[in-house]
Amino acid sequence: MSDVTVFPQLEIPETIAAGPGPGNTDARVLARFAGAGLADHMHEDVLRGMKECKHMLRDVMGTKNVHTFGVAGTGWSGLDVMFSAVMPGDSVVMFVNGTFSGIDGLTVRMKAATAEELAADPMNPQAASVTIIDVPHGQSVTGEIVEKALAAHKPKWAAMAHWETGSGRINDIQGFSDACEKHGAMGLVDAVSSLGVEDFRIDDYPGIHGWASCPQKGICCLPLTYAPVSFTDHYIDMLKKTGTRTFVHHPILEARHWGIVDGQDVEKGAYHRTHSAYAVAAFHEALRITLQQTVAQRAKDYQFHEAALRAAVTAMGCTVTSNMTSLIVLNLPEAMAGREMELVQHCRAQGFGIWPTLSEPVQIRIGILNLLNEQTISDIVRRFGDAITDLGGTVDHGRVSSALNEYYGRSIAAE
Ligand SMILES: *Cc1c(COP(=O)(O)O)cnc(C)c1O
Repeated sequence: MSDVTVFPQLEIPETIAAGPGPGNTDARVLARFAGAGLADHMHEDVLRGMKECKHMLRDVMGTKNVHTFGVAGTGWSGLDVMFSAVMPGDSVVMFVNGTFSGIDGLTVRMKAATAEELAADPMNPQAASVTIIDVPHGQSVTGEIVEKALAAHKPKWAAMAHWETGSGRINDIQGFSDACEKHGAMGLVDAVSSLGVEDFRIDDYPGIHGWASCPQKGICCLPLTYAPVSFTDHYIDMLKKTGTRTFVHHPILEARHWGIVDGQDVEKGAYHRTHSAYAVAAFHEALRITLQQTVAQRAKDYQFHEAALRAAVTAMGCTVTSNMTSLIVLNLPEAMAGREMELVQHCRAQGFGIWPTLSEPVQIRIGILNLLNEQTISDIVRRFGDAITDLGGTVDHGRVSSALNEYYGRSIAAE
């Protein structure tokens, strides 16, 4: 008798991924993923694909940084590579205004903690060299907040999320970059939620020396999991001096497989780890789609459809507190307050994948990653309105659909 269990084949249903992420992967990306042949990680077409990805990624990010490539894994993998330059005892000011920048703050405390500080509280070290500036949930990190903190602390590093997905807030990247330059801090930015959604060029922000994003949000490439990162020469020079205690997530070593050696693009990548031909093919297609649609056009489309969704949920009596364009964070109408989790569960049980906030206060998040057309937005609105009604709330469906029709009618007429 064997106690080995072979479970039935795993079936995962199709849902509407209407949350903060992952976004809806384009069928073209899935086709490239499944269509790639089995080829090893040193095969010339796999290496060529990685080099082409690197060049396309520089265009998507708007940078001439040679150290621009993908990190195998999720957003946190890219962030771990970016924060790897932060060494024990380094002074850091970290701005936190929600769940994700909060975790970035924990990462920074783990990296900057001395051995004694880490041992004193291994899972949540309090590093004396790290200053966390807490900005309340629902508010943005402003240039003034950054300026004041950097003037007071003059840190080696400053870090912030560009778009805080926990509360749906856009932080002031220009103010952050300016303050970093003025006070000689090296800026590090979590651009997981903004890349591929907002139209910006990282080279326009000279105070920022490290950027990290993810595959699954604005790049719409869930299956391949390459997290885009980019580093200035200044960052790389700093890293060359201090070193860092990681092999796999070492920015200089990881770059080699993408054909970046000694700060230069080279013909042939060098082994760092076993990259997947399937993943490379999918990532390559996702970047091609982004550049074909253009980042600028996508940013416009997000703005356009976010405003439609905002108008519709406002007509339901909800209050929107976010200002990101890929995501709406809202409070339910007064009569439904406190039932956010119940409503989210109800929607999720029907394959309508919206989300609550992951830290207090509880709010509802509805995302539109790669759901950029009137029909899909109208479907999301209908499902959300029905869910409120199912739970006994009142929605004036006529008013909601006229808000939506009016918005699309007016906006399309104006074009
Ligand atoms: C989603 C997100 C992350 C984490 O990305 P994963 O792909 O889940 O690892 C980090 N930071 C921000 C701002 C995010 O939105």
